[in-house]
Amino acid sequence: MRVRFAPSPTGYLHIGGLRTALYNYLLAKKHNGSFILRIEDTDQSRFVEDAEADILASLAWAGLQYDEGPVKGGPNGPYKQSERSDRYREIADVLVQSGNAYIAFDSTEEIDALKAKHTSPTNPNPRYDYSTRLEMNNSLTIGAQEVSERIQRGDEFVIRLKVEPGQSVVFNDSVRGGVTFESDAVDDQVLMKSDGLPTYHLANIVDDHDMEITHVIRGEEWLSSTPKHILLYKAMGWEAPQMAHLPLIMSPSGGKLSKRNADTLGIPVSVSQYVEAGYEPEALLNYLALLGWNPGDDREIMTLPELCEAFALEKVGSAGVQFDLQKLLWFNEHYLRAKAPLEIASAELEAVCSRFGPVTQEFLAESIALMLDRMSFSKDIIDFSYLFTAPSEFDEASLAKRWKSDSGAVLLSFCNDLAALSDWKAPSLEASLKAKLEKEGWGMGALMFPLRMALSGLPSGPDLYRLMELLGKEEVLSRLNHAAATLKTDQ
Ligand code: GLU
Repeated sequence: MRVRFAPSPTGYLHIGGLRTALYNYLLAKKHNGSFILRIEDTDQSRFVEDAEADILASLAWAGLQYDEGPVKGGPNGPYKQSERSDRYREIADVLVQSGNAYIAFDSTEEIDALKAKHTSPTNPNPRYDYSTRLEMNNSLTIGAQEVSERIQRGDEFVIRLKVEPGQSVVFNDSVRGGVTFESDAVDDQVLMKSDGLPTYHLANIVDDHDMEITHVIRGEEWLSSTPKHILLYKAMGWEAPQMAHLPLIMSPSGGKLSKRNADTLGIPVSVSQYVEAGYEPEALLNYLALLGWNPGDDREIMTLPELCEAFALEKVGSAGVQFDLQKLLWFNEHYLRAKAPLEIASAELEAVCSRFGPVTQEFLAESIALMLDRMSFSKDIIDFSYLFTAPSEFDEASLAKRWKSDSGAVLLSFCNDLAALSDWKAPSLEASLKAKLEKEGWGMGALMFPLRMALSGLPSGPDLYRLMELLGKEEVLSRLNHAAATLKTDQ
């Protein structure tokens, strides 16, 4: 089994593209096959400067390593279409020689005129095809002598596929089953452009053949191109790979998830935006794996090796699948919480230190362990500023409601107990607090609320005893004294 991911560097890698890459990867790994990366960069007009670098970086971030491809190389290289032009020209010539393609000199104006002439209510989009090609300037209508003279003198020309009418183009799609297109509806696709570069269709089938690709797995938007590809394989006498077209990714508001409606809904579309937002790669992969495929049971959390093991094209659905950012967040929280706090700490240490001053990695790891079930992203730790610095603001609304006239005195009294405590650990802190409540006859809230407020400035938060242990005796006493001295209710 040899599969390929064949992005065009016309923009940053889209999450739909990452899903396509992932399904290819999973299938290859499941069958001990090869996963090939090929850059389809023949469309100069849509070329985006740093798109290729973004594609490589995004795949590396996701951990989808390819077996053959740019930079890495391999036996079927080069893996960039712009470096394979000679081969496409060679095949275009073969197709012309065998009568499956022809040379066409028509200018844009002539093609526009053809369209204008044939446009009618019953034929709103006339095509350059079997029904019109004999009205045009091509090697089917001009003598061979003139064709070669025009080429000699440098007239611009393209090479078009000669699609014969009246054929049913049939292929089996692993996702959709039997698919049939009538050749009457297929135009005489340009294969080589006047700049001497191939179109996607020609380059794609030549490379899939030369790279010995056995399975083509790509988005549904390419389904309508497939009959052209099947005709090309036939014309060359090559065997077509097995096809599989993945379902469209739909917007939660309906319709295809376009960049525009994703932006309106606050859904990132490029992988680099997910990287930037701090998503865990495992979470994004797990989520995307289930966006169109299921393992046939109710498993949701699956590691990459588990996905490889379970993946099958037969379980990919053909209906569009709705993108659900909340669900992705759920996966992210799961993978984040499964990580070792020390690992998260090492990723966040620099950001935390540059915001709050020196913090040790051990302290940060303990802070993360305390806060993990309140975090969705590893960078969320920085938002809990009271872990690293005494609060300078206190939640007004809850102060007004729950800070009593004796709250300051309650804190100071508890400070005395704490000052005498030698074992500064959560269980002793808890025991000491409970003993205090018992001794004074206070309700839980009478001490817990002012304590929490003094330590964090907020009415709710993590386990208080663990927080006190983490902050240390000196810091806790200082925050309690400060709160007792400064916080007051309005009454
Ligand atoms: N270059 C096409 C793209 O950008 C590849 C389609 C295919 O996989 O055949 O998606």
